[in-house]
Amino acid sequence: MADQNLPTPGAYVDDNLVTLYGDTIDQLISDFGRNVIFYLPPSESGCPNCEQGFDGSSQGVPASNPFPLGSPFNKTFPTGGLCPVCQGTHKILVPVTQTYKSSIQRTPKDFEYTQYGIDFDPGNVVKLKNKMVTFEDIKIAEKALIDGDLYTRIRYPIKTGLRDLRYVQSFWMRINK
Ligand SMILES: [Zn+2]
Repeated sequence: MADQNLPTPGAYVDDNLVTLYGDTIDQLISDFGRNVIFYLPPSESGCPNCEQGFDGSSQGVPASNPFPLGSPFNKTFPTGGLCPVCQGTHKILVPVTQTYKSSIQRTPKDFEYTQYGIDFDPGNVVKLKNKMVTFEDIKIAEKALIDGDLYTRIRYPIKTGLRDLRYVQSFWMRINK
């Protein structure tokens, strides 16, 4: 039902223009965006580096370890010894990452820098814009690698768009110096 307080929709901005606007922003992210690696919460997995007996002692290194020798998840050790990867727990945390093409804006104007104190460097803040399909990942991502620097997410991401919510805005602060 139409909102009685507003004029009829579509007088200036018709559906074609809304579609064109959305497609243009998509294209800008695609053409000018850069790949950002988002670090999601790690997932727990059985240790690939050891077989473990009922008594909890390590039985040796399985031949099926999918990780190459020398990686943090593939370290040789003597049978009966403590597995250096899982310390005998047979559980490891596997890093989970997602890479998304992102529009990267440095020192964004729409950010309350003052709440971080007078000495806060606005040059450490970055705003990212991504397509809406990334929302579920970005809202649980705690860190991101942006142009080679490590950032932490400052606040919960915001959904934005003209009429339709098509984008995710998120603010990040550099944590490596
Ligand atoms: Zn292990």
